[in-house]
Amino acid sequence: MEGSELPIRRHRRALVRAVSERPFLIVTGETGSGKSTQLPKYLYEAGLAEHGAIGVTQPRRVATMSVAQRVAEEMGCELGGLVGYQVRFDDCSCEETAIKYMTDGCLLRHILADPLLSKYSIIILDEAHERSLSTDILFGLLKKLFLQNKPPGRKTEMKVVVMSATLEVDKLSEFFGHCSVLHIPGRSYPVKEIFCNLLSPRDTGSSAYVTEAVKVTLDIHLNEPEGDILVFLTGQIEIEKACDLLFKKAESIDYRYEVHDQSIEGLLILPLYGSMSTDQQKRIFLPAPKGIRKCVVSTNIAATSLTIEGVRYVVDSGFVKQLNHNPRVGLDILEVVPISKSEAMQRAGRAGRTSSGKSYRLYSTEFWEQCMPDHTVPEIQRTSLTSVILTLKCLSVHDVIRFPYLDRPEERHILEALKQLYQCDAIDRRGHVTRLGEFLVQFPLPPNLSCAVIKAASLDCEDMLLPIAAMLSVENVFIRPGDPQKQKEAELQHQELSSQVGGCNDFATLLNIFEQCKASKSPSAWCHKYWIHWRAVKSAISVEKQLREITSKLKQLPDFPKETFEGSRTELLRRCLCAGYFINVARRSAARTFCTMDGHGSIVYIHPSSTHRLSFPSGCSWISWAILNTSCCSFSLWKVKLYNQETRLEWIIFHDVTVTSKIYVRTVCPVRYEWVKDLLPRLHQIDAYELSSVAREEVTEEEITRWKHKEDLRRQCEGAKDNP
Ligand code: ADP
Repeated sequence: MEGSELPIRRHRRALVRAVSERPFLIVTGETGSGKSTQLPKYLYEAGLAEHGAIGVTQPRRVATMSVAQRVAEEMGCELGGLVGYQVRFDDCSCEETAIKYMTDGCLLRHILADPLLSKYSIIILDEAHERSLSTDILFGLLKKLFLQNKPPGRKTEMKVVVMSATLEVDKLSEFFGHCSVLHIPGRSYPVKEIFCNLLSPRDTGSSAYVTEAVKVTLDIHLNEPEGDILVFLTGQIEIEKACDLLFKKAESIDYRYEVHDQSIEGLLILPLYGSMSTDQQKRIFLPAPKGIRKCVVSTNIAATSLTIEGVRYVVDSGFVKQLNHNPRVGLDILEVVPISKSEAMQRAGRAGRTSSGKSYRLYSTEFWEQCMPDHTVPEIQRTSLTSVILTLKCLSVHDVIRFPYLDRPEERHILEALKQLYQCDAIDRRGHVTRLGEFLVQFPLPPNLSCAVIKAASLDCEDMLLPIAAMLSVENVFIRPGDPQKQKEAELQHQELSSQVGGCNDFATLLNIFEQCKASKSPSAWCHKYWIHWRAVKSAISVEKQLREITSKLKQLPDFPKETFEGSRTELLRRCLCAGYFINVARRSAARTFCTMDGHGSIVYIHPSSTHRLSFPSGCSWISWAILNTSCCSFSLWKVKLYNQETRLEWIIFHDVTVTSKIYVRTVCPVRYEWVKDLLPRLHQIDAYELSSVAREEVTEEEITRWKHKEDLRRQCEGAKDNP
C-alpha cells in the first residue's frame, strides 16, 4: 500500500497539531495503518525536527532496519543520510540524520550517555503494545525525565509520542498523566478462523507443529484460490527446516492436474526471522510475479512489527519462542510456549488486510481453552532484569523498587537482579554501582559476558574473548540442514572444528571458527566447506571490531585493572570465562547430567547442539558410536578420546539454557573446581534485601561525587563508537 493510500493519511493534520501542542501523546491504530512509516515523516515535513532529530524506537532489530529503509525510499534519500537507523552493532546514521529509527535498547544506551537526549526534539516509542523490557523501562524514564517540566539543561521541550496497536490505551494514558489519545481508524476484512484440530494440549513441548504447518500450507496452495500465505513458526532453525520441506514438496507438484486454481503456476517460499540481512528482508515485501503464490514462513515478527501486503491465508502454529525467567532454575530460558488468545487474533488479522481471508489454527479448541492465556505477560514481568537494573543504577535511579513501572515486576525479580549484579561485583553491598559496574555498562553485552571480556582485557588477552563475545552476539553460526544426510555431513565438519581445539570447549570452537575464517583467503568457501553461516561470521567480525574499540578506550583509563597470569592459553581462556560465567556453573551429577550450583540445584543436560554431544549422541553407547565411526578413526582412539572427555567434564560453565522435555545448557566449557571455588561463595553470601535497603530517592554528596566520576569516565570514553 502506498503512503498516500494508508488510513493514517486522512489524520495527518490532526496528528501534526496534536504533537506540536502537547508534550505527551498516544497514537493508536491497527497494524499496517501507517504509524511507523508515515508519522515521523509528517512531523519532519511539518518542521518539527528543526531543533533536534526525531528518534523512533522499535523493539525488534529487523523491523528497525526495514522501516527505516522503506521511509528512506519514500523520501527519495539514501539510507543513513536524512533517514537512518541504529541497532546494536550497526549504526547507519550520521550527524544530518533527522529521522532515526533505533531499537529501544539503543535509546536506553543513548540516555546513559546523554540523559537529556539533547540531540532529539521528539521521541516516538513505537510498538508499545509489544511491551518489550526496554520499552517498559523507557516509559518510566521518559516520564520521570520529561513529563513534569523541561529539565534544566535542555533548550527545548521534549515531545514524546507513544504508538500502539490498540491494547491498554487507558492505562497508558493514565500512566503519562492522562495524556491525549489519538486513534486512527483502520479498515479490515472478515477473516474465517478454522481450528484444524491437529494439535491438542498434549502437544505442548513437541515440535509436531512444524510438519503439520507444512502439510496445511501445501493443502492451501493446492486447493485455495490465489492469495499469499503467511505461516507463523517460532525460530530460525525450524523455519529453515519448514522451508526445505515445503520446497521439496512444491517441486514435485504437477500444476496441470493438482492445483485447483489454474491461474497459479508456482510457489515462492521465503523465510523471515530476526537475524536476516536487510537485502533478504526486502524480498518479503516485493509482490510475487504473476501466477506465483508467495508463502512467507515467519517468526512472530510478522504479527505486528512488519506488515506484508497480499496475505489472504494465515497458518498459525499456536506457538512462539519466548524468553522467560524460570524460577525453578533461576535462569532466563528461551522456550517455545503457546501464544496468547489476543496474539492468535492478531495473527489471524494479518489475513484480512486487503480482502477477506482465512486463518488456519493448527490447534484444537481444547488447546485454545486450556493452554492459551488471554494476554501475553509483559517481558518486564518474565525475564531477568539484571542489565536494565544496572542501567538504571548508572542513571542514578537508586530506588529501583519504586521506579515508575507501567506494570511492576515482582519484587523478588528485582532483588534477584540486584543479587546477580552483586555477585559479579557490578554493585557493592549497599547497592551502589562499583567501578567494575561502570566498566561493564559500557559494553552492549549481557553483564556476565562483559565481565569475562574485562577480565581478559585486564590480563591483556582480549584477543581471545572479544571474538567469542562477538560470535555469541550474532545469529547462530552453525548451519543445520533439514536433510538427514546433509545434517550428518554438517555435524562431522562441526565436530572437526571442535576437535581441532581439544573437542570439548564450545567457546574455544567459536574462537577457532572466527580465527580460521578471518585468516582464510576465501572465507565464504571455508564456511561452505564447514557448514558455517558466512553472513553470521561476517557480522561477528564487525562486532568484534566495535567491541575492541570500547575495550581499548577502557584500557587507557588509569584505574583499569591490570593482572598477570602464567599458564597455557587454553587455561587462560577458561579462567577469563569463569570470571563472568561462574554464576552459570554446574557439577556432574550422573553420567549425562549436571547440577547447577547457584542454590537452585537444577539438573541440566548438555544440549545436543554442543560440540561435546556431537561426538557422543544420546541414545547411543560410546561403543556403538565408535564402531559407526571406525571409517574415520580407529576404535581405540575414540575410546581414549571419549574417556578423556568424560573425566574432564566434572565441572562446566555454560552460556545459556533452553528447555524442551529437559533443561538443556548450551555453549559449554569444562572448568576446574579450583578456578571457581573462591568465586562460589559470592553466590550465597548476600541477602538480596540488604542490597535494596539503600533504595531511596534523595541524592547524597557521595552519590554526586560518584556521578562526577561517571561523567569523567563518559568523557574519557567519548569518541568510542556508541554501539547499543
Ligand atoms: P503500522 O506502523 O501502523 O503497523 P507501517 O507504517 O509499518 O504500519 O506500515 C504501513 C505500510 O508500509 C504497510 O502497507 C507495509 O506493508 C508497508 N511497509 C512497511 N515497511 C516496508 C518495507 N520495508 N518495504 C515495503 N513496504 C513496507
